[in-house]
Amino acid sequence: MPNDPKTLTTAPAPDNADLPRVTYAKTLVGQPALVTGANSGIGKATAIGLARAGADVVINYVTDPAAAEAVAHEIEGFGGRAIAIQADVSKEDEVLAMFAQAVSHFGTLHIVVSNAGLQRDSPFEQMTLEQWNTVIGINLTGQFLCTREAARVFRKRGIVSEVSVACGKIICMSSVHQEIPWAGHANYAASKGGVMLLMKSIAQELAPHRIRVNSVGPGAIRTPINTEAWSTLEAYADLMRLVPYKRIGEPDDIAQAVAWLASDAADYVTGATLFVDGGMTLYPGFATGG
Ligand code: NAD
Repeated sequence: MPNDPKTLTTAPAPDNADLPRVTYAKTLVGQPALVTGANSGIGKATAIGLARAGADVVINYVTDPAAAEAVAHEIEGFGGRAIAIQADVSKEDEVLAMFAQAVSHFGTLHIVVSNAGLQRDSPFEQMTLEQWNTVIGINLTGQFLCTREAARVFRKRGIVSEVSVACGKIICMSSVHQEIPWAGHANYAASKGGVMLLMKSIAQELAPHRIRVNSVGPGAIRTPINTEAWSTLEAYADLMRLVPYKRIGEPDDIAQAVAWLASDAADYVTGATLFVDGGMTLYPGFATGG
């Protein structure tokens, strides 16, 4: 449980104590999946969730190979198959090599989750070109490179009706900040706004080939990317002003949404962003004012 006092190392989120632990139906058997940035946070939970749903999983990482291997071992521990592959998603040659290695290892890919991302926050007038380029390069160009390779692999193979009615599924990790402006984070919000129209444009282009492209838009999820937002009681209370559902999201909340979008249960869903945000995009300030 997320708030077990024996394992809690950060400020508690008491309202999460009864969070349901939902099991995964075996909807993805025979469909190898690649998840970028899968040695931490949302990507890690997604890799494990897709494996629990029956997929073989490629765990992409750029740093900390031990963390990536630990995710692979966790998956192998419950009978799944996984391989960790290093690649910087912002570098074309590394992305091409990763997809080639993934296909050679598992035979093909049916699911690609373009999740890797980071923040380089700064007041706008102090923001450096390096901070801007780093965030756009990984959060947006990285999604371009990985989704393009996904489309190439899916189209080259075609539909395998025994495993899925779709030719392939792409899931982009976006954010509530594809919609909500974010002062002090202009590079990040611009990257996620870009992901939104990248996702919709390629969804439109690839739909006739039966390739579905969707995004998940997380709200505040408890991961290392935003530790300062939940690791003290004061910060957590402050965060809850923005979350109508009054709990922080857990990485598995996102993994569940990805597993559904990747499955044939979502076969008529393409070009959509599924916000998983406890209502953060509901303009909570208007609940009592406006
Ligand atoms: P995280 O820091 O735990 O994970 C980010 C992952 O991306 C790490 O594995 C990191 O190594 C990897 N990564 C960074 N640069 C990379 C590169 N060049 N190549 C390959 N991998 C790289 O953070 P997280 O919260 O799990 O973030 C995952 C995604 O979710 C990001 O796209 C983030 O923008 C998005 N998101 C997170 C939240 C949240 O509240 N945690 C909210 C909205 C969106």
